[in-house]
Amino acid sequence: MKTETFDRLLADGDETTAGNYFVANYPPFSFWQKDKADEVQRALAQPAPAGVPLGVYFHIPFCRKRCHFCYFRVYTDKNADEIKGYLELGMRELARYAATPRIAGRKPKFVYFGGGTPSYLSVAQLAALTERMKALLPWDEAEEVAFEAEPGTLTEAKLQAIRDIGVTRLSLGVENFDKHLLEINGRAHREDEIYRAYDFARKIGFPQINIDLIAGMIEETDANWQRNIAKTIEFQPDSVTIYQMEIPYNTTIYQQMRAEGKLVAPVADWQTKRRWVDEAFSALERAGYTVTSATTAVRDPQKTKFLYRDLLWQGADLLGLGVASFSHVAGVHFQNLPDFETYTAAVRRGDLPIGRALVTTEEERMIRELILQLKLGRVSQSYFREKFGVVVAERFNQQLAELTRRGLLSEQGDWLVLTREALLKIDVILHAFFLPQHQNARYT
Ligand code: SF4
Repeated sequence: MKTETFDRLLADGDETTAGNYFVANYPPFSFWQKDKADEVQRALAQPAPAGVPLGVYFHIPFCRKRCHFCYFRVYTDKNADEIKGYLELGMRELARYAATPRIAGRKPKFVYFGGGTPSYLSVAQLAALTERMKALLPWDEAEEVAFEAEPGTLTEAKLQAIRDIGVTRLSLGVENFDKHLLEINGRAHREDEIYRAYDFARKIGFPQINIDLIAGMIEETDANWQRNIAKTIEFQPDSVTIYQMEIPYNTTIYQQMRAEGKLVAPVADWQTKRRWVDEAFSALERAGYTVTSATTAVRDPQKTKFLYRDLLWQGADLLGLGVASFSHVAGVHFQNLPDFETYTAAVRRGDLPIGRALVTTEEERMIRELILQLKLGRVSQSYFREKFGVVVAERFNQQLAELTRRGLLSEQGDWLVLTREALLKIDVILHAFFLPQHQNARYT
């Protein structure tokens, strides 16, 4: 890893241009290949070794409205019958997996409803769906059931139903508290709906409430960002997640940029977005919170865990159900078909609805866990020695020396600890840990 490579990676003050920035997995998605369903079948044909946790993710791809910055696979035009049909097919998919040697008899340790907008579902749909899921793969040992919600879809009755199905972690997609910003960024909810939903949720008593914010929405200002931070602290959520706005190619914002021939997105530059996250983290720390990852601060780190993230980043099996969902099972990455029509047709035919997959090597799995765990800001070297037989300080000595020389990392006993500055630009730093064939390649 050359010094110039780090110089290039760490160049600051850069404008926000189109493209993916966030590192969510490894090897890069652009290396996953079509027609690999056989590899997935092979992975599912062997029982899991003892001690590998299992998680289930269900993608609910429906939203009231498409946010201008959204890059997920979502639909705003599906009627009740189509939604019902989709949920049934998701369960048919789960039944198929639940019968394989790899999954049969295992109980998920964590369950995650993501989207899209899981809270778009009606109370009756939620109850029927989760009853079916539990019959196929009992949740009685799940330590966490996480659920993403859009404030404008939440009535008290729906929140109660969400709690009743067993949700322990409610994540509210607030993103911003300002009415005008919410509107010009295409969000469906309004400021007063946030307050109402939060009050209901607290009253109902969810064990954990998370608030999501985005630093750098269109027209964000210093004054408004400070207001966002103050409002968040006033709420005292159990955890706060802050993303830095990125503009992938499949967003409405990018379509607009292209139509106008613009290369720079109409949002703050990276330096400003990082400063905003830093200011938020510092204010949260002053209010008693602890920063536990590049995107998260929690009020009580002893009590507030995020198993979906932590177990996945330690190599747990994750079964992703629904259109475009991502799975990681027995060291094989796979993603479901990315369109509603192709996904539903495949499940109806009785096929595994797999769009692309990658069989990872042991070295790739080790790097995957290392880069994902670096996002927590601290990595235990003994973990990698015990699990992979790798001495991180030797295997990555050049990368670690460069980061140390720049004052971005220190070795504290067993731990490699990143500074706040490094944490705020972790997604660019992580590319330095990729294998040579994955560097300078398209990520998605
Ligand atoms: S609510 Fe979330 S998933 Fe739905 S359109 Fe907005 S950003 Fe996308």
